Amino acid sequence: TKPKSAPPASKGSSAKSGEVGPDYERVKATFVTLARNSDLDELLGSIRSIEDRFNHRYHYDWVFLNDQPFSEEFKSTVSALVSGTTKFGLIPQEHWSYPSWIDQEKAAASRQKMIEKKVIYGGSEPYRHMCRFESGFFWRQEVLAEYDYYWRVEPSIKIYCDVDYDVFKFMKESGKDYGFTITLPEYIETVPTLWDTVKSFIHANPQYLAENNLMEWISNDNGATYNMCHFWSNFEVGNLNFWRSEAYQKFFEHLDKAGGFFYERWGDAPVHSIAAALFLPREKVHFFGDVGYYHVPFHNCPIDQEVRTQKKCVCNTKDDFTWKKYSCTTKFFDIQGLTKPQGWEAFHN
Ligand code: GDP
Ligand code: MN
Repeated sequence: TKPKSAPPASKGSSAKSGEVGPDYERVKATFVTLARNSDLDELLGSIRSIEDRFNHRYHYDWVFLNDQPFSEEFKSTVSALVSGTTKFGLIPQEHWSYPSWIDQEKAAASRQKMIEKKVIYGGSEPYRHMCRFESGFFWRQEVLAEYDYYWRVEPSIKIYCDVDYDVFKFMKESGKDYGFTITLPEYIETVPTLWDTVKSFIHANPQYLAENNLMEWISNDNGATYNMCHFWSNFEVGNLNFWRSEAYQKFFEHLDKAGGFFYERWGDAPVHSIAAALFLPREKVHFFGDVGYYHVPFHNCPIDQEVRTQKKCVCNTKDDFTWKKYSCTTKFFDIQGLTKPQGWEAFHN
């Protein structure tokens, strides 16, 4: 019998794969992954998922960051999977350690308290360095200096649908600075004094507040209290220049001085989210409703049948978290005046 199809075309000329040609003008953008050497196995599926659904067409670079040197095994294994150029950054010690003003005994005592209260990651010291790093330092790494846009990828995630357009070009051309897939409320135990700290910053620096911002999304009482809503930052497509802005740098410095990364357990998700909600005009924040995303334990699974078939999604809509009452995405749609997909009410429980 004859072979069913011709052998695969050579790189750069396959119409079916939709691969871009050698003259394609990429945006200055990269994937970025913070990981330990021990995360390697869990990371491979994430990379494969991104490559299969998106990057095999575009070959964007991928930057890996670590507070320890990456092993040769790590570097060669991920490089074999990434279709763009891989780069590896060793995080400087001053980006992953206690600042001088932190009382480490007080920090240890607070970790002990949080263990007793069974707060998730409440007893972990590395987790706190990780959250502080993702808040204030990932975008300062030298290996990222040449890029404008990034897509953050963590181990053990899944992409459920074809991403059949250049996401980075979309961000640039539509003027978006922050993109997300999943939203939810933060545990109050991890951020008891975060909002007061944010308020003192705003009070001293009102000039940084964007006109037409998303305050309404993170506060139900015009800024008096935080409603805990945040973008889940294990997925982010964003503009690095937003984090590099004076507003965000000053904001981070103010939070860092207050010590809540160590005395409490402030996450980079609420920190990024509050900044994006306050310092960006709302039209610069984008919901990626067509990507399909999973990070334990939540799924973003498009419920719109047209999207599901067009993008070849493989998730189960009954798992979708987007339209659940506990998610903050319905509120985001209402505030932004966006049209919800048909049938969303059936998922709103
Ligand atoms: P979770 O998603 O909040 O449960 O936290 P993860 O364990 O997934 O950590 C968030 C990200 O930081 C992931 O990309 C991890 O690989 C990375 N990460 C966490 N802790 C460390 C650490 O101590 N060192 C390094 N290099 N990466 C870490
Ligand atoms: Mn994770």
